[in-house]
Amino acid sequence: MGLLRWVLFQSGLLVRMAQQSKRDVILMFHGVPKQSAEELHDLLQWLSKHFAIVPMEAIFDRVSRKRGEKSSVFALTFDDGLRNHRTVVYPVLADLRLPATFYVCPGLIERAVTTWSWEFWCRIPLLSETCRRELLARAGVRNLTDGVAILEWMKTIPLNERRQVEDDIRLKTPGFAFTTEQRELYELMSWEDLLGVDPGLINIGSHTMTHCDLPVLNSEELANELEGSRAVLEQRLGRPVSDFCYPDGKHNDAVVRAVANVYRSAVTTVCGSVIAGDPPHALKRIGASLDLQRLSWLLATHTGPFHRC
Ligand SMILES: [Zn+2]
Repeated sequence: MGLLRWVLFQSGLLVRMAQQSKRDVILMFHGVPKQSAEELHDLLQWLSKHFAIVPMEAIFDRVSRKRGEKSSVFALTFDDGLRNHRTVVYPVLADLRLPATFYVCPGLIERAVTTWSWEFWCRIPLLSETCRRELLARAGVRNLTDGVAILEWMKTIPLNERRQVEDDIRLKTPGFAFTTEQRELYELMSWEDLLGVDPGLINIGSHTMTHCDLPVLNSEELANELEGSRAVLEQRLGRPVSDFCYPDGKHNDAVVRAVANVYRSAVTTVCGSVIAGDPPHALKRIGASLDLQRLSWLLATHTGPFHRC
């Protein structure tokens, strides 16, 4: 497969498949460490040579139309409001003059080091074997070595219960401190960071107030995460906030309806490209790889004649 992919990439066939598909792509990024800045620059420069990079508003306009388009366009999205989006990603976007959307959680800005999910991603590996087994048993997981399963289970339980589990894990990892590498990857932007980006280039979207998994919330909690986050962002940034991103991609029909009452568009983590007629509040994305060959393969297989989704 590696050789086939390399040959197809080198021949330019992969990119041509994506170009000719006339399907649009919303690329999803998370943290970009500073040592990857050059790779990101090269990747975005390459992308912008082959495709038009457009703001999320243009994707919304295109999916809302009934007719197909003549060519494929790309939108760039960055989740979680990470500081490296300001320090590593933004300088690259500004240099190349490429628009993007940063999805941020206003309830966490200057209040938490990172989202609860990144915090526990870092903490859970430090739990003792006994604590981990206890939590996995509570989660009903049979494979008692699978630490990631604890985090996945935490995303499925009601908010109050999850906060109790968080307290429990914090108590059981008393010596925990984020390492320098973890801070570089997961630390959140400040309000000053957000106010310092060019609004003509960077669209700010909501990623909920506190990065909650929406399907487990009651209606009051849901309203706070959706309407509350939009209101705080608009008030602090002094600009409209119209686009939304589901934390961890988690959504159901009721959540989608609630989001549609507050936002113009919403992106998921369901892998795939988008086309005219797609529901604007359940937009698929493709997880970006900084490896050009791998990304080209992903694009071709998710947009080209053999695309599966
Ligand atoms: Zn997120």
